[in-house]
Amino acid sequence: MGKVGVALAAACAAAACVTAAVMVSRRMKRRRGWRKVVTVLEDLEEGCATPVGRLRQVVDAMAVEMHAGLASEGGSKLKMLLTYVHNLPTGMEKGIYYALDLDDTNFRVLRVKLGGQRSTILDHDVERQPIPQHLMTSTTEELFDFIATKLKDFVERQENVSEFSVEETRELGFTFSFPVKQNSSSTGTLLKCTKGFSIEDMVGRDVSQCLQEAMSRNGLNMRVAALVNDTVGTLALGHYHDQDTVASVIFGTGTNACYLERADAIIKCQGLLSTSGGMVVNMEWGNFWSSHLPRTSYDVDLDCESPNPNDQGFEKMISGMYLGDIVRRVVLRMSQESDVFGPVSSRLLVPFILRTPMIAAMHDDDSPNLMEVARILRDTLQIPDVPLNVRKLVVKVCDVVTRRAARLAAAGIVGILKKIGRDRNGGTASSSKAKGGSQSKMRRTVVAVEGGLYTNYTMFREYLNEAMGEILGEDVAEHVVIRDMDDGSGIGAALLAASHSASLAIDNI
Ligand code: ADP
Ligand code: MG
Repeated sequence: MGKVGVALAAACAAAACVTAAVMVSRRMKRRRGWRKVVTVLEDLEEGCATPVGRLRQVVDAMAVEMHAGLASEGGSKLKMLLTYVHNLPTGMEKGIYYALDLDDTNFRVLRVKLGGQRSTILDHDVERQPIPQHLMTSTTEELFDFIATKLKDFVERQENVSEFSVEETRELGFTFSFPVKQNSSSTGTLLKCTKGFSIEDMVGRDVSQCLQEAMSRNGLNMRVAALVNDTVGTLALGHYHDQDTVASVIFGTGTNACYLERADAIIKCQGLLSTSGGMVVNMEWGNFWSSHLPRTSYDVDLDCESPNPNDQGFEKMISGMYLGDIVRRVVLRMSQESDVFGPVSSRLLVPFILRTPMIAAMHDDDSPNLMEVARILRDTLQIPDVPLNVRKLVVKVCDVVTRRAARLAAAGIVGILKKIGRDRNGGTASSSKAKGGSQSKMRRTVVAVEGGLYTNYTMFREYLNEAMGEILGEDVAEHVVIRDMDDGSGIGAALLAASHSASLAIDNI
């Protein structure tokens, strides 16, 4: 080999060494990056851990807070609001009733035909209407005039001439899911505007009366027979179908629960008159808080940056509004700490860009290459070409966040059951029997559930049911039924209008 050949061979060897060194260094960097994201995931798993012992502590804390909220006004973060609903539908209601369900930017009008026999809702029609943007910041009269005219149109389209005579008053259930101080089962004053509404002259006014006046102005002969929130509507529908229903929970954009309480347990309202001996209590459980809740730095940051810090702590760990954003925060941390996602995408910095239906879609992705995960990372977060092992990691993040939410939700439900003595065998035994040591048979207990998170997110539902079994023990859990009440908030209000129009319940104290 000549000198030139030797030089060439040496150059080639050197180049090979450099390439190898670069490759080794890249591989080491990749490994370091991978180790860092795995550490972020492990920290998340540890921070979100919900072993059954901790869930039982949450159960106890929920029951304790419920007692405190019933004992005195402001005694707990749980408001435990009186609804003045003493009687729930029995299934025997008969006739045609209407409902108006006003939630965020849409309202729905419903008409329900009841046959007078259990579980026979003969017919129901629903129409969804958007509320024009300008009316959300206008005046009470303008908003309610708009709603009343749409309701009147709906009534005229649906009704046969023979159904109502000109003088006959129709009965309406009004579902109004905003903070209201209820004065009776059909009246209540608005405490504050939320969810994008800003109609200052409505605050402090009786919303039923505002609607009633608008209906009169627009020539609609209809009476607001019940004013309820969505949880109470859902409980009413649950009870209509199944009288063992004692509580209802909403898992949608937000979360809340209500249940049937003994009137004498509502200590803050002594001397409450109730023909049935009970009253539905609206817990406003989204604001529940306990030091036993497993809280991570992501939850702390989300809360600090929210418009309502220190408020709705339970809701911020559980509801559809927030789960996607917790996942976004974890992926952002992973992306900042390593380059497994490539350069940090500016989209990851946008709050609420990753919505909960997207994390459900990633979590449910059963394609071998996780194509849905790749699509959402690319299209929503502008992170292209994510390797499969990193996509798997993202699915795991969705799993950890949703599993914690569902298990805490289950603990909340068992907290309610504990408060009313339905969480254990013999819990409903008469005291003499219990003292004698004989266990009475566990009563069947039904909890009605409504909301897009529960209905559409399979893994949320499965984790919730699994945790109910773990906390209660299978022998008790088999007597507890979680029942999906689709459209409960609307139909339930019509049912309450029906039961209240016929009811002799004493609404006022
Ligand atoms: P709202 O709570 O606003 O009255 P819904 O009960 O319909 O309305 O719930 C809507 C919420 O449910 C959405 O904000 C979203 O968080 C959640 N959601 C809707 N679809 C899905 C889905 N496919 N997977 C997971 N969550 C969903
Ligand atoms: Mg709703």
